[in-house]
Amino acid sequence: MYVADEALCRDVATANRIIERFGLSSAFGHVSARVPGTDTFVLPTRRSPGLADANNLLLLNTEGKLLAGDGQPNSEFWIHARIYAARPDVGGVVHAHPPGCICLTQIGQPLRVVFNSAAAFRGGVPEYDRIGLIRSRELGDLVAKSLGSSNAVMMRGHGMSAALPDVRSAAVVACYLEESAGLQLRMLSAAGGDMSRVRVYSEEDTAKVGGDNNASTLSRAWEYYAAAVEHLPLGHVKPGL
Ligand SMILES: [Zn+2]
Repeated sequence: MYVADEALCRDVATANRIIERFGLSSAFGHVSARVPGTDTFVLPTRRSPGLADANNLLLLNTEGKLLAGDGQPNSEFWIHARIYAARPDVGGVVHAHPPGCICLTQIGQPLRVVFNSAAAFRGGVPEYDRIGLIRSRELGDLVAKSLGSSNAVMMRGHGMSAALPDVRSAAVVACYLEESAGLQLRMLSAAGGDMSRVRVYSEEDTAKVGGDNNASTLSRAWEYYAAAVEHLPLGHVKPGL
């Protein structure tokens, strides 16, 4: 069944496999893409993102209505629907349960810029502090409100959501976020739990490396992640181990 442009569907399937192959998700998690210029978006059916199939996707709108495709959406589709409704600038959304992000929220540590790629988060990553799944329009609106104008939001004890202008950037920045959270945890541990001993980038440092996170860098990162998923087997990373 026709759901959306073939290239967009291919990117959605690849982005979903990326978040599973790179340890952001196992059985749960999902990536979507807005159909450009509309209030509709493409989302996989209800299964692991590692099993996403470009030929079996769904089309929903920001009101949560299923418009095309065979099957049921993931139960947290409201995250996607209400972020697209609140943010016309967003073209791709990732939601995942990566261990590093969960650990940071559970020790009350906000994400800090501690290496170059984390400059993507120089505006700060807000936190949605309610626990539990996002299975209603109201909760979806609350997540979108917590996200505000940022490119990602941490979700306490649950994971993260990222919202970028396109699905490729969303997948790459989601990987950066988990990489960053993991590095921050290792630094914090090596520093005996004292965050003041970690050399967090100053605004000046961040501005210096921030320009490196441009479209060509993101596109190079996508090229790598997308190629890697063709070679990595399903389930090769066990999140949390
Ligand atoms: Zn979730």
